[in-house]
Amino acid sequence: MPPEFSFLCPLANGLHARPCSHIAEIAGRFQAEANLTNRRNSRVANLKSVLSLISADVLLGDECLLRFAGTDEQAASVATRSYLEKDLQSQEEVSPAFEAKKKSLPRSLRKLEVQTVYGIPLSKGIGQGALVIAVGTVLPEIGKHDPAGNIDDERRKLASARAALRHELQELIERSASETACGILKTHLGILDDPAFMEKVDHYAQQSKTASDAIVLAAKDFADTFTQSKSEYIRARAADVLAVCSRIYQLIYGNDGEKDALVLNGPAILMAEGIDAQVLLRMDRTHLQGIVFGEEQKTSHVTILCRTLGIAAVTGAAEVKRTFHAGQEVLLDGSRGLLLSLTSAVQDFYRKQRAIAELRTEKAGRFATITGTTADGKQLEVGANVTSDIEVKSAFQKGCDGIGLFRTEMLFLGKDTPPTEAEQFEIYASAAKSAGAKSVILRTFDIGGDKPAAYLPFAQEQNPFLGHRGVRLYKDNLDLFLDQLRAMMRASVFGKVRIMIPMISVLEEVHWVREQFEQVKRDLTSRGQAFDVSIELGIMIEVPSVVPVLDKIAAEVDFCSIGSNDLVQYLFAADRGNPKVNHLANARHPAFLRLLRQICVQVKQHGKWIGLCGEMGGGARNLPLLAGLGLDEISMAPNEVLFTKQRLAALSSADCARLVEDALELATAEEVETLIDKFVLNGSERPLIELELVIIESHSKNREEAIRELVDLLHQTERTEDPDGVEDAIWDREATYSTDMGLGFSMPHCKSKSVSHSSIAVLRLKEPMIWEEASTVPVRAVIMLAMKNEPGKHMQVMSKLARKLMDEDFRDQIGSSRTREELVRLLTKDAGIT
Ligand code: PEP
Ligand code: MG
Repeated sequence: MPPEFSFLCPLANGLHARPCSHIAEIAGRFQAEANLTNRRNSRVANLKSVLSLISADVLLGDECLLRFAGTDEQAASVATRSYLEKDLQSQEEVSPAFEAKKKSLPRSLRKLEVQTVYGIPLSKGIGQGALVIAVGTVLPEIGKHDPAGNIDDERRKLASARAALRHELQELIERSASETACGILKTHLGILDDPAFMEKVDHYAQQSKTASDAIVLAAKDFADTFTQSKSEYIRARAADVLAVCSRIYQLIYGNDGEKDALVLNGPAILMAEGIDAQVLLRMDRTHLQGIVFGEEQKTSHVTILCRTLGIAAVTGAAEVKRTFHAGQEVLLDGSRGLLLSLTSAVQDFYRKQRAIAELRTEKAGRFATITGTTADGKQLEVGANVTSDIEVKSAFQKGCDGIGLFRTEMLFLGKDTPPTEAEQFEIYASAAKSAGAKSVILRTFDIGGDKPAAYLPFAQEQNPFLGHRGVRLYKDNLDLFLDQLRAMMRASVFGKVRIMIPMISVLEEVHWVREQFEQVKRDLTSRGQAFDVSIELGIMIEVPSVVPVLDKIAAEVDFCSIGSNDLVQYLFAADRGNPKVNHLANARHPAFLRLLRQICVQVKQHGKWIGLCGEMGGGARNLPLLAGLGLDEISMAPNEVLFTKQRLAALSSADCARLVEDALELATAEEVETLIDKFVLNGSERPLIELELVIIESHSKNREEAIRELVDLLHQTERTEDPDGVEDAIWDREATYSTDMGLGFSMPHCKSKSVSHSSIAVLRLKEPMIWEEASTVPVRAVIMLAMKNEPGKHMQVMSKLARKLMDEDFRDQIGSSRTREELVRLLTKDAGIT
């Protein structure tokens, strides 16, 4: 009798693409016919076809019967059974990296089975709208192409398109820098050669007599089956089949299925693959709520533009296309790096988060009119990076001390011709006027690298970042450069304009630029056009060759600003757009910190002003280092300015200087991170409890809501920058033992790196709640202890508080105190907790 056996699916996500391709690969080694019957739905699948197996919709707990028939049936059965019983589950273990990413989903949403894609935070903000996929082809209607006279011609078209796509996919796999992208491409390759797929396409070709209908009908068949599955993984395969079919269609018929996805008709989250700064600048962004990038990239110009323009963005989220469908309502959380389906729970959660964000911004607003200053009174200007005069105006409204970088090349991109001198003059003059007495650093155009302009002829370059870019373009495009210099200088009569040159590598370039600069001044004078005669000329320090001769260069310029994005990429030889080498491009590595120190010392020796305008300027973790380096200014995306000033006000410049000294002695990036952790831990102290940490009448209905409400209080009062981390730490304790004291009080608590200031937060509940299943007495008040990661203190405060709560009088007083003030007094003065 032919061999057969039963199998019970043990996988939480059912038999999805990866195990299916293993099974198909094993079955394909044998001649014997092999099939699987899913007893739950009676679907029968060919074991040699991934698509057929996926179509059987085998879910967790489904019982399946596997049958083999043919000359080597015994061997086929043994090999398949061995895989299913021994390897299937172990291969399914979720990687720790994925688990870590999953933590970015707020605890309160984790158990709600919200469809989620985990990416990497790129630009803060929360956006919601319909998902628009900026690449990809929409398949045509059935019957769009007339039936061909000869079915063989249609089959030939299909075969050659499949061969072309196979070649294309293989090439893309070889070139792909991202593992996720590579995995997707391999899945597509698998579909292309899948026997069930080929059979179906051929069947419909025979029936309809057109390649077009064959593709559309086959795509529809598989997509319909997959999208009905309960498993998210299997539903996601529909997008893969559609992608393969779309590309085959495109290869035969050209681009006539493509839609102009970048016209947004309503609030939208844009999934952007391969879009560059030009596309973003060219499009109407009125409805743009957020952007998600498939490939991981952090300092490419399109991503910088998102931060500068304040567009919420997430990167490294290639799974978006397979989890969501175009048009689906989604929410993008730029701070956590998430994309979520827009359920009502998600909406509720984010409504609160938005309110907290607004409150935090409002609080930080008091720093808007104060120049960036440390707690001990040392000034460090906090500037903004912008790309237009409109942004200059709004950056000053957001409290910046100056414009540290106006990337003027953005005025040159996304157009068919460059802006004229007159057009530029208008823009720079308007920027200067908005700045009043404050400085605006206009950087001359840095075209090239990942910012090509359509009208400038660029030869094909092997390494565009090492090629014709920035100042290197100016001699060949002298008129363009001089037009810009004239426009900038003329604008200088309206404010404090400074001119900065990008990509300086050698002193000779400074000499050449200085000659042009002086010539333009002479020209303007002879034409009778006014300009600020003391206008400054500065350079960006972003090419490492400048540093060894900085003593010579600093002497000949008026100011310098460090372009950490390029300086990092060139120092570590790590392309800023290549995710594979992102880990090397680390601005906190001792090698880079030493270079920064060298730059600051040399520029200061010449009594010149030194700023830093790369993305490093905006990172909270970088701030103590930057504040200790002796810079005059740091410049960043406008939305970061206020919070940076607020953080700066809590730092001691002397401590920061010591931190830098210590960091310079270290050898590895990891050691620097540990040092910063310690620095943060020893940061300024605040009292354990304050008024804003108390809610007298909370509406929380259960433990989850209460804990989140308390954690939000910490976030609101700047006691944590990572509320989700605190929430997790609290729940880790909750999982080990009950924090319900059984006296109408519960005391959730944690000791965590995510807490910046040890805190006690209190909720008195409007309606008493049952804390957990085993609780007997309803809880009337929740007192949360969230402590920094410092030894000893946690237990000390906990036991003091717990002892106090054993006293009935004290409990009653907490229960009856009418104001927050009374409650705080009870806990501090009476209980002696400070
Ligand atoms: C830099 O390189 O850090 C910089 C600010 O310039 P850009 O990012 O525009 O190259
Ligand atoms: Mg640069």
